[in-house]
Amino acid sequence: MSSAQWTDDKRKDDGMKDELDMFCNQCSQAAHGEACTTIGVCGKQPTLARLQDNLSYTIKGVAAFSYHLRELGVVNEEIDTFLTKAVYSTLTNVNFSSEDFIALALEAGRINALAMRLLKDAHIEAYGEPGPTKVQTGTVAGRGIIVTGHSLKALEELLKATEDTGINIYTHSEMLPAHAYPGLKKYKHLVGNLGKAWFDQKQLFSGHEIAVLGTSNCVLLPLEKYRDRMFTIGSARLPDVKHIEGYDFSPLIEVAKSLPELTEMAGEVELTTGFSASAVLGLKDKIKSLVDEGKIRHFFLVGGCDSPIKSMDYYRQFVKALPNDTIVMTLACGKFRFNDLDLGDIEGVPRLIDLGQCNDAIVAVDIAGALAEAFGVSLNELPLTIVLSWMEQKAVSILWSLLALGVKGIHLGPVAPPWVNDDIMAVLIKEYDIRLTSEAQLDIDEALGVANAL
Ligand code: SF4
Ligand code: SF4
Repeated sequence: MSSAQWTDDKRKDDGMKDELDMFCNQCSQAAHGEACTTIGVCGKQPTLARLQDNLSYTIKGVAAFSYHLRELGVVNEEIDTFLTKAVYSTLTNVNFSSEDFIALALEAGRINALAMRLLKDAHIEAYGEPGPTKVQTGTVAGRGIIVTGHSLKALEELLKATEDTGINIYTHSEMLPAHAYPGLKKYKHLVGNLGKAWFDQKQLFSGHEIAVLGTSNCVLLPLEKYRDRMFTIGSARLPDVKHIEGYDFSPLIEVAKSLPELTEMAGEVELTTGFSASAVLGLKDKIKSLVDEGKIRHFFLVGGCDSPIKSMDYYRQFVKALPNDTIVMTLACGKFRFNDLDLGDIEGVPRLIDLGQCNDAIVAVDIAGALAEAFGVSLNELPLTIVLSWMEQKAVSILWSLLALGVKGIHLGPVAPPWVNDDIMAVLIKEYDIRLTSEAQLDIDEALGVANAL
C-alpha cells in the first residue's frame, strides 16, 4: 500500500478530508490570489513545498525546547544560529533544492537532539535527577490549581508562590513527570495528577472547580465555564484569559482562594513516572542476564504525542497485546493511552517504564545506546522497536532527531504526517526503513519476528 493510500484510509476512518498536492501562499504570485495548490507559479514543485513545510514544523519543535531551555537560563549559540539559517531558507525564492531541505531537516534533527539533551541537563541541574515515583490521580480536600503544558520552571515558581497558602497543586498531561524530580516533589502541596492527555482539558477543567495554569503549547481554547479561572504564562496565550507576567502568580492565587474546596476523591489508578537513564541503567546487568536467559525477548519504545483521533486506539491495543517477556519504555502524553495498565515486572524489572516528557526522548536514546554497548551490538541491532505517535511539530522534530542519530525501522502513526507525499515517504522508507503502523498484532508479530506475520 502506498503512503498516500495508507494515509487516505486512516484519514477516512478519522473523518478527515483528502489532501492537496501542495499549499503555498507565501507571496503575491499565489495562484488566484489565494494559494498555489498543484504547482507554484514560481516553479516550486509540490515536494519542495512539502519539504519546506517539514523543515518549518521541525524547527518549531526545536524552538519549543529551546524556549524552555531559556526559561532555565541556558542560551545556546549553535541552536540559535541554526534556527536563523533554517528559518531564512524557507523564505520565498531562497532555496529551490529538495536535497538541501532533506539535509536541513537532518541537521534540524541533530540540533533538536542537542536542545533536548541540554534541556534534560538543565532540568537535572535545577531539580535533581528524577527517580521512579508513584503519583496519585484523585483529588484531596481543599482548594487547588492545576498546571498543564510542559514548563517545569513555571511549575517550580508556582510551587514556591503557593507554599503555605493551603492551595494544592495538581499536574495535568505532560506535567506528570514533574512529580519525579526531587526539587519539585519536595513541595508537599504538589498532590497529584488529574486527567489524561492534553485534549481532555475542556471536560477536566469544567468538571473540577479549580484554577488552571497553561504553561506552553497544547492549551485549548477554554469554555466559558472556566475561562475566568484560567491563566496562561510564557508563550501560551488565550483570548480573554489573564496572562501571568514575571512569575507574579498573585491573581491566580486570588482566584484559587475564591473557589469552593474540592472534596477528597481517590483516583482510579496510581501512576508511576520518572525513570531516569541512571534508574534504568542501574538495572543494566540484570536486564542483560534476563535477555541472555531468554526472559526478556524484546524492548519497545512506544511514545509521542496523543491526539483525539480514533486511530490512536492503536497504541493501547499495541501495548495491551505485547507478550509478558517484553519491556515497554514510554514518554510524552501518548503514554496516557496505556499508562493505567498494570504490566507487572520481569524479576524486578518493570515492564512499563515512563521516561518523562517528550524531550526525554533523549533519555531513551541514551538508554538504548548503553544497552547496545552492553550487548556488543549497534543501536539498530538491538532487540528494540520504536513505535512513535505524532500530533504536532515537537514530535516531528523528535522523529528527525532519531533519523539524524541513524535510527532505522521506526514505526510511525497513527496517520502519516499530511505534508509528507509519496516522494518524501519513498526517501524515508529507502534511507531509514520507516514503517507505517498497521494492525497492532501484525506489527507486534513483525517486530518479534513471528513467521506468520509476513
Ligand atoms: S512562493 Fe511560489 S508556490 Fe508559493 S505562493 Fe509564491 S508563487 Fe506560489
Ligand atoms: S507530547 Fe505532544 S501532544 Fe502531548 S502535550 Fe506534549 S507537545 Fe502536546
